[in-house]
Amino acid sequence: MQRPDQSPALARVMRGELCAGCGACAAIAPGKVSMAVAEPGYLRPVQSAPLDPAEETAIRNACPGLGVKVAAEGRENPVLWGPHISMQTGWAADEGLRFAGSSGGALSAVLVHLLAADVVDAVVQTTASPVLAIGNSSVVSTDAAAITAAAGSRYAPSSPLADLTTRLASGRRHAFVGKPCDAAALRAMAAADPKVAASFPVILSFFCAGVPSHAGGQAVLEALGVQPSEVARFRYRGMGWPGRATATLKDGTERSMSYHDSWGKILSRHVQLRCKICPDGVGMTADIVCADAWESDAQGYPRFAEAPGISLIVARTPLGAQILAAATAAGHLHIAPFDIATLAGIQPGQRLRKRSTLARLLALRLAGRPVPDYQGMQLKAAARQNPLSTNLRNFLGMLRRLPRKGQLRIDPPS
Ligand SMILES: Cc1cc2nc3c(=O)[nH]c(=O)nc-3n(C[C@H](O)[C@H](O)[C@H](O)COP(=O)(O)OP(=O)(O)OC[C@H]3O[C@@H](n4cnc5c(N)ncnc54)[C@H](O)[C@@H]3O)c2cc1C
Ligand code: SF4
Ligand code: SF4
Repeated sequence: MQRPDQSPALARVMRGELCAGCGACAAIAPGKVSMAVAEPGYLRPVQSAPLDPAEETAIRNACPGLGVKVAAEGRENPVLWGPHISMQTGWAADEGLRFAGSSGGALSAVLVHLLAADVVDAVVQTTASPVLAIGNSSVVSTDAAAITAAAGSRYAPSSPLADLTTRLASGRRHAFVGKPCDAAALRAMAAADPKVAASFPVILSFFCAGVPSHAGGQAVLEALGVQPSEVARFRYRGMGWPGRATATLKDGTERSMSYHDSWGKILSRHVQLRCKICPDGVGMTADIVCADAWESDAQGYPRFAEAPGISLIVARTPLGAQILAAATAAGHLHIAPFDIATLAGIQPGQRLRKRSTLARLLALRLAGRPVPDYQGMQLKAAARQNPLSTNLRNFLGMLRRLPRKGQLRIDPPS
């Protein structure tokens, strides 16, 4: 039952299990809302004092659990991939950065360029937690060494917006890197508050299949046969393409498993509910979005064991396109052409989820569950790309898994 002083916006998010864990609510109401780990290891808001009406409105406006808005504004806007100016592939010119990155290190190369060209003073990004090897921390990087150290995807919860108040108080200009839901929340906050817009002139993101809980990372450690207390460092990817999930133990030895085994067989089974109904895993509100640009099998896994990394690089805004051109001209980034017609084959997870979102949302609605208000996502057009039988299967699949004892369980996207 909702407490009398509980934020109606946050109560709605919690009732629908719609939280993505971005931390925007904690940034909007510091001292009243904070982020904490909740079972089975997701980051969720904890409210400790009543919110005033302005805070309530700001959360309603920004929270990606309540909704996400995007507008094409004259850009190319394909149904599955959203508004963009250009789509290319590329990689970091610095070989060490290319190797450290999750894909081709392109995202990190852009960050290095933004600092070198004095476009921003600092980068807000996500790196390994100093206290939980499988967990994440937000970090402010101000040089190439720190950006290289934070390169690589971390398939664990992150709340990169939670400390926004401190970042704003610093008076610095930041580039922000976050999941698409983080980017959408920040974009909404920047539209509502010029101080946020001035402090975060550049927003970067990556394609996102979903965030697994800490239970996912722990299951990877178990499968590697190591205790959490033995682990000094853990990386999910990077150091090669796709790179192996690797635990470095306190005795200096390493245990690792392939991306196919770690993400495909373990982590993808621990993804939070909000991600199963996410039509914006492609980061439609960011300036630049990066992803894997590999030749893949029908499940979206690379057809090779290891290769020099290549990132898909999407410029979504004129600013993003300008930054990519400048980063290339300055020698930080190598760029190659890309045929968008191949993208649905490379990213089957994104393709299937976008086409299935409408059917899943309808099932939740029918069951009286709150759902996010998605605007500009072309959900009907995406659903029409599915045979009716597939939409029906997704609709019935969602209904079948509706809550017992308040828990909604859904299988990972196939
Ligand atoms: C949870 C998750 C799901 C993903 N799903 C897909 C997918 O479906 N398809 C796909 O092509 N790619 C996916 N990726 C992204 C992909 O793994 C690469 O990050 C992307 O291809 C860019 O590679 P890069 O080498 O250019 O980036 P890098 O140079 O390696 O930079 C990665 C950046 O992401 C930041 N980062 C890493 N983990 C997190 C996190 N948990 N939260 C916030 N920021 C983080 C780092 O701080 C760094 O700045 C996912 C990544 C994550 C973290
Ligand atoms: S999605 Fe973000 S803003 Fe919404 S409740 Fe969760 S942490 Fe807060
Ligand atoms: S799948 Fe969507 S909701 Fe989930 S973490 Fe990624 S961007 Fe956020």
